Amino acid sequence: MKFNIEGLKSFIPDATIEALLESEANAPASRIRDIIQKSLDKNRLEPAETAALLGVKDPELKEMIKEGAHTLKERIYGNRIVLFAPLYVGNECINDCVYCGFRISNKDCERKTLSHQDLVDETKALVDVGHKRLIMVYGEHPMYSPEYIAETVQTVYDTKFKNGEIRRVNINAAPMDVEGFRVVKAAGIGTYQIFQESYHQKTYEQLHPSGPKSSFLWRLDGLDRAMKAGIDDLGIGALMGLHDWRFEVMGLLYHTIHLEDTFGVGPHTISFPRIEPAIGTSFTDSPPDKVSDEDFKLLVAILRLSVPYTGMILTAREPVDVRNEVLRYGVSQIDAGSSIGVGDYSHKDDESRKKSQFVLGDTRSLDDVIYELTKGGYIPSFCTSCYRAGRTGEHFMEFAIPGFVKRFCTPNALLTFSEYLHDYSSERTLKAGLELVDFEVGRIEDPEMKKSVTAKLEEMKTGKRDLYY
Ligand code: SAM
Ligand code: SF4
Repeated sequence: MKFNIEGLKSFIPDATIEALLESEANAPASRIRDIIQKSLDKNRLEPAETAALLGVKDPELKEMIKEGAHTLKERIYGNRIVLFAPLYVGNECINDCVYCGFRISNKDCERKTLSHQDLVDETKALVDVGHKRLIMVYGEHPMYSPEYIAETVQTVYDTKFKNGEIRRVNINAAPMDVEGFRVVKAAGIGTYQIFQESYHQKTYEQLHPSGPKSSFLWRLDGLDRAMKAGIDDLGIGALMGLHDWRFEVMGLLYHTIHLEDTFGVGPHTISFPRIEPAIGTSFTDSPPDKVSDEDFKLLVAILRLSVPYTGMILTAREPVDVRNEVLRYGVSQIDAGSSIGVGDYSHKDDESRKKSQFVLGDTRSLDDVIYELTKGGYIPSFCTSCYRAGRTGEHFMEFAIPGFVKRFCTPNALLTFSEYLHDYSSERTLKAGLELVDFEVGRIEDPEMKKSVTAKLEEMKTGKRDLYY
């Protein structure tokens, strides 16, 4: 890898962010209302506007922000939730991120990298419960070269099991050079995701003492290099709890603006994980800027309003009650039935915790999550159609093209959900799911579309699979 930070400059203006957070605090209700309206009118917010939302103290205004985010979600994206699972490939790591169970200095971590056969077994186990979309996760280690990552992605795509297969593989792996990114792009990855962890450079440098990840600039430039290699489907994120969450939200916004200004396209998804306990990792017992549940909910709503056209990912790090509430504020993807110990899906054992990066807050099975989503009126979706039909930037299209959600997203959610019901669901989920599908088909306004979806659902009953628009 050509590690070169010469000439790189940070696009995160620390002093400006701090000044805005101070000067915009306690804005009057009328300004907050105007900002929410701007977002509902389908505009990204400017940093000063996001800072004003972040500076709200009045409980009523906080409610107004959350309701604004809810309205935006309902109006533009409807009630689908896309489901995926993380697949940890290996936990070897040469970095020393103080919050991570995989860090090099953690003697309590049991190191493991999946063999080819392990990877096939893990994939089959995931397919066998109904998954169609994965994010493959890797520590940072010379073993996990771009070629290795490409090969493991290919193995997953090549693994068929019973009626199913994984149809979209996203990756979360250390940032590469442009050449490396070209190699993983050629393997057909969906989203390339990487978190900046903290956008506050000084904090970042303290918490990443050694290894390639210790360079703030190399990491910050990572997504630019991915873009240069032709990967325009990118996920950004910040690990909440390392520094003031308000600063991190501003950092995510500045990163978005930077990508838009430089490449004409912003990130596909934003993640905002909170720090969870990790074995042998006392730092996680009391993170310096721990985010409370209440602040976290507001954080999600403010991000939704600030960047209204970006997918938002909520992970099973969060406990069920928090997950259920923030789904309302604009989350578009969640993982479910997740295991984060290397090899856990196919060979779970008592030692799994030692191979895990951290501890999950939501340990429900995929079927239980689907049942509860269905009962909550959400359509669980395994849709992968835009990516496979070459419609890149689908989240932006959902937002920007009138009727896109009705033409593609809802029908594809119903088809992939029905596929799940036919092949994988429990009795109770089947019953609740069929009722929901009936109800949602009844709500399709366009008679042609209603006829077409009904016909495809019938085809599915005769054994056809993988039908989409
Ligand atoms: N090794 C690569 C890296 O660091 O970018 C990719 C994978 S790393 C396993 C995925 C993400 O997990 C990290 O970016 C970090 O934000 C998150 N993470 C690490 N430790 C965590 C913890 N204790 N709680 C929650 N998330 C954590
Ligand atoms: Fe390694 Fe990533 Fe964990 Fe840091 S966060 S120690 S780079 S696996």
